Amino acid sequence: MAEVHFRAQGGVAILTLDNPPLNPLSEALVNGLWEALERLQSSDTLTSCVLIGARDTFVAGADIRRLQRLAKGGAPSGAEARSLSALIASLEASSKPIVAAIDGFALGGGLELAMGCHLRLATASAKLGLPELKLGLIPGAGGTQRLPRLIGLEPAVECMLSSRQLDAAEALELGLVSGVVARADLLERAIALASSLQGPAPKSSEQSEKLPRPEQTQAILDAARQQFKKLFRNVDYPELCLEAVAHGLEHGAAAGLRHERVCFQKCLEREAAQSLIHLFFAERAAGKLTGVTDQGFERRRIERLGVVGGGTMGSGIATAALQRGCSVVVAERDSASADAARGRVERYLEHAHARGRLSDVQLADARARLICSPLLSDVGDCDAVIEAATEDLELKRHIFSQLLDFCRADTLLATNTSTLPLERITAGLSRGTRVLGAHFFSPAHVMRLVEVVHTPSSAPEHVDALLGLVKALKKTAVAVGSCVGFLVNRVMMPYGQAAGLLIDRGVDPYRLDRVMTAFGMPMGPCRVSDLAGVDVGVFAGSILDSAYPGRAYRSPLRRLLVEAGRLGEKCGVGHYRYEDGKAQEDPALADFVERCREEQGNPAPLELADSDIVELLLFLVVNEACRVLEEGHAERASDVDLALHLGMGFPGYRGGPMIWADRRGSAYVAERLQSWRAQTGLGLFEPSPRLSRLAAAKASLLDP
Ligand code: NAD
Repeated sequence: MAEVHFRAQGGVAILTLDNPPLNPLSEALVNGLWEALERLQSSDTLTSCVLIGARDTFVAGADIRRLQRLAKGGAPSGAEARSLSALIASLEASSKPIVAAIDGFALGGGLELAMGCHLRLATASAKLGLPELKLGLIPGAGGTQRLPRLIGLEPAVECMLSSRQLDAAEALELGLVSGVVARADLLERAIALASSLQGPAPKSSEQSEKLPRPEQTQAILDAARQQFKKLFRNVDYPELCLEAVAHGLEHGAAAGLRHERVCFQKCLEREAAQSLIHLFFAERAAGKLTGVTDQGFERRRIERLGVVGGGTMGSGIATAALQRGCSVVVAERDSASADAARGRVERYLEHAHARGRLSDVQLADARARLICSPLLSDVGDCDAVIEAATEDLELKRHIFSQLLDFCRADTLLATNTSTLPLERITAGLSRGTRVLGAHFFSPAHVMRLVEVVHTPSSAPEHVDALLGLVKALKKTAVAVGSCVGFLVNRVMMPYGQAAGLLIDRGVDPYRLDRVMTAFGMPMGPCRVSDLAGVDVGVFAGSILDSAYPGRAYRSPLRRLLVEAGRLGEKCGVGHYRYEDGKAQEDPALADFVERCREEQGNPAPLELADSDIVELLLFLVVNEACRVLEEGHAERASDVDLALHLGMGFPGYRGGPMIWADRRGSAYVAERLQSWRAQTGLGLFEPSPRLSRLAAAKASLLDP
């Protein structure tokens, strides 16, 4: 239960914000603060005040459930929407000085609250920031006005647009806090500071020394626009943030605060905020798996990780584990391969060091924790072993038969296979059901998504332990049942197939890519194929086609490209030609497209608007996701959205294919699939039973 504890020490009121675990600003907490403030003002004996958070954190931010209700069109009662801003204005207007004592997080509304106080003290571990843009929102309780006035326009705008957290040292240097103190002394120092303050205290919204001259403002805002242009495509909330800032600079903080509310309200009504908040909760839900994470298993810390195979994926997994403090043993097939694996991991670590993500000491320490060996038995004493050897069924079976033989009974075992069902790898192996899937995405030290693959015979405590390992690697796990393609590759299968179909039916391949990148995908289907390797796509496609034959469609284009040695980016030419790492459209592709259409008997071209192309490709993804959900291979629709966002770069501001399609309605999705089914006669477009059911009931594609 959220509370504000009120106590007095001498003439200083101490207000402790207490809303476990991170003191988010719920309505109850805001109301508690209003009451405490009234008590402070009406007291004859109290002359100043300290605001501090319980459990070593100030306030981690807004109550995001409340924001979600508002973003979903829940009518914001004027009083509710204004209450935090009004509270902060009252704090700032208090004639009795108020000091914010900040440990842990002061983020979003938490920092806005702290900026409404007259002075701020922080501990060395404090983190301060306005990350609202991560949720498609802007600071809505004075942040756009007070931050520029406290630290200057340029750093304030950078801080808001990047959603970056400032550490205490930077906050001190910028003047956001007036001192950094030891955690043990925080409260006492804040009390001393509050009692020493006499007379009217400085108000953040009235400061102007750090503001630029009016004629400089535009140039600073334009530079910020330019800097963040690439990060924000197809959305206007960053512009609304700058608009609120600029309004306040031109017309004064009071007008700026009013305009900030208008801009904040606009953001709330946008699809982007609804989508990004959906993904925020999707991420929290994804870590939970019925029958597994609700069983209260105690998670063992994985201190020593074994990786079998130190190629592209194995070296990335090893790097991720070394960066999180694990000791890592990479087992390779021979000494030369072990040395090559060490070389790859060291290059990744050095890259992280060069980018400032590892200090000199951390780099040396990570190197010292790495062993690369030609002996599989060297992973024998590891707490967990992830197999990332060549994609070859017999090889993997051989590796696991040995691992099951000599690893400890409690060692967590997982394979990183992309195409082989777990059951085939472990069939007939004694205790083989211990083996799980840990499907990392490439590059494994960068990509956050890991599909945690389990079968009905997997022990829940093992699945729980693997979810724990993924979390410890600071990655996001999505639990998936063992089916061919798992989740991401399976639901993207018809996307790739339909891209081929559209090319066969007259759509220019480069137009296809332009349409999908304009929609917000990082790359179009042809460019993705080149990146992954056209030959790899043909191989993986054949596995998926044979697993799901009733709805397979394969254009001959990729096969023709492979036959001509156009394997993609790795050999300089595929659908595109690559010069200096840049993809250039290649006129020679037209010949392949023509041959491909001829092979298909020159089918009648399809006349499609750009929006039809987007719907055709993505409704097929949704349809396949409905099958995955119906088969019980994924727990919830939001897992699909999260996995596609993290694994395929589906634009966060559109939320994921399920929520995106749900806005159009399940009936519309099914109806369009039906009409393409009729037009082409292809089983590819057959609506799945689940989609048909939802459509008939006009029900949501998202879980209730
Ligand atoms: P890779 O060819 O780059 O690496 C495989 C490594 O396994 C090589 O270094 C090889 O020397 C080693 N190896 C072969 N036999 C071995 C043995 N007996 N003992 C130990 N090591 C042995 O391949 P990769 O792309 O890293 O793929 C590895 C696994 O990860 C495959 O199962 C693949 O399906 C899966 N995967 C790959 C990707 C990707 O994008 N590359 C993505 C997800 C999963």
